Amino acid sequence: QALSKRFGQKREVLFENTHVIAVGSGKGGVGKSTITANLALALHKLGYKVGLIDTDILGYSIPRLLGTKGKQATAIDEHTIMPIEAHGIKTISMGNFMSEEDVALIWRGPILGGILEQFFSDVYWGDLDYLVLDLPPGTGDVPLSVLQRIPTSKLLLVTTPQSSAAHVAGRLGNMAEKVKVDILGIIENMSYFICPNCSAKHYIFGQGETEAIAKILNTEILGQIPLDIEIRQDSDNGVPTVLKEGDNSAKIYMDIAERIT
Ligand code: ADP
Repeated sequence: QALSKRFGQKREVLFENTHVIAVGSGKGGVGKSTITANLALALHKLGYKVGLIDTDILGYSIPRLLGTKGKQATAIDEHTIMPIEAHGIKTISMGNFMSEEDVALIWRGPILGGILEQFFSDVYWGDLDYLVLDLPPGTGDVPLSVLQRIPTSKLLLVTTPQSSAAHVAGRLGNMAEKVKVDILGIIENMSYFICPNCSAKHYIFGQGETEAIAKILNTEILGQIPLDIEIRQDSDNGVPTVLKEGDNSAKIYMDIAERIT
């Protein structure tokens, strides 16, 4: 209740001198959180000071991806929470306030809004060049509130090549347009699979849908990431792929980071 009371009361401009990138997708399971984590670390590798907020309060997954599962955030006073350090970036997630990962959170909007406000205003971020936000999937209340609360943010859309994913990503892009948030571009994930035996490129989920959505939204595809077993394994191990020297997928994440800076 204390949290819900605070929702929307603080109205100062947030992150005035920071580039804010909100990473969203039309639906879950397309690799949005994986891309958020890799991109945040790619920006850090380029020499920037980076923060990452997991705004998916109910469905958080960033602690697992960054290997900070079980690390508890600490409050040093009533309005100051210290972020968690992970591989050189600062991060906060609901997971850093939970002692068990598999407990269902059943909070409604006002509570979620209060927690987000605390993540934005009460976490001691210090100076950041880039703040990357992992949005919950879809066009629901939370992604909408986040984009409205930080209107300087730019939306980065993640989709897979399937038409079902691309079209719902298009809807999120449309929502951003309605609230006058710029679209930074689209990242197509699981674009193709390279056969480890014959090196042939297989377009398992098809081709062309992402280009069509990019055209409708008047934006561009910033990169195409392969379906890669290592990306899945690295995520499970808490050491995102971009940290691996000489890895092909790592290079693609770095190229995308360079494109957006
Ligand atoms: P979302 O945030 O969109 O729900 P996640 O980032 O949690 O999706 O990814 C869903 C699953 O797909 C995870 O198990 C993740 O490791 C895996 N994954 C994501 N991107 C890739 C990829 N390019 N290749 C292989 N597995 C991937």
